[in-house]
Amino acid sequence: MFLRNPFRTIIVTGIPGVGKTTVLGILLQEASKIGLRVEVANFGDYMLREAVRIGLVKDRDQLRKLPHRQQLELQKIAAKAIINDAKTKLSEKDLLIIDTHCVVKTTAGYWPGLPRHVIEELNPDSIVLIEADPELIAQRRARDVTRNRKDLGGKEEIKEMIEMARAAAMAAATITASSVYIVINPEGHPEEAAQSILALVEKL
Ligand code: ATP
Ligand code: AMP
Ligand code: MG
Repeated sequence: MFLRNPFRTIIVTGIPGVGKTTVLGILLQEASKIGLRVEVANFGDYMLREAVRIGLVKDRDQLRKLPHRQQLELQKIAAKAIINDAKTKLSEKDLLIIDTHCVVKTTAGYWPGLPRHVIEELNPDSIVLIEADPELIAQRRARDVTRNRKDLGGKEEIKEMIEMARAAAMAAATITASSVYIVINPEGHPEEAAQSILALVEKL
């Protein structure tokens, strides 16, 4: 179980609106400049594709409101599909990055995004936890009209979720002996977070 994937693998997590997808978009551009082949797999995209196919939801922010067992089934399908796809594309020097959550705020309570069945399937070298000041995260969410994160609450809920995310990241990392690497996403400078993640990759 502790043997790694045939390519380097990191999971990028952080609470909703902290900037994971933004940072990874920049990382992809930076990686191509230095000749590093990177695939970014968005876990939510994989869950959404299956959920839309079977007519359960129309958008990604509805996934966390589905019946709990349904989310579990989608979670399992996504983890397997991500690794199967990566195996067809990547080799030893390449990098798989999975954009996901280590804690999901569902209608049934906080739920691990990286429980044993998922973390063993993804088997990452490292789990990156992206963080930012709670007030800034609230502002980023408010500015982002492409998403519906209103059910996630305000500054107090953000603080609580940051704590839950740290605990969840370390718990998941323990199962696969992965490192946990905290990266700040500074306001107006997501490229700095992207560079920090690339610096981690050099250490793997
Ligand atoms: P989710 O988990 O819900 O997918 P996310 O962590 O992927 O969220 P993004 O969608 O990347 O978050 O970013 C949320 C919003 O914050 C976007 O509008 C994005 O432009 C903005 N943003 C991201 N990083 C920064 C930054 N460093 N400074 C200012 N705004 C940022
Ligand atoms: P995102 O765009 O990253 O917010 O992902 C969309 C949605 O996918 C999230 O709000 C969750 O409902 C779901 N999701 C993403 N990753 C996971 C995961 N590891 N486990 C369970 N649900 C997830
Ligand atoms: Mg995102």
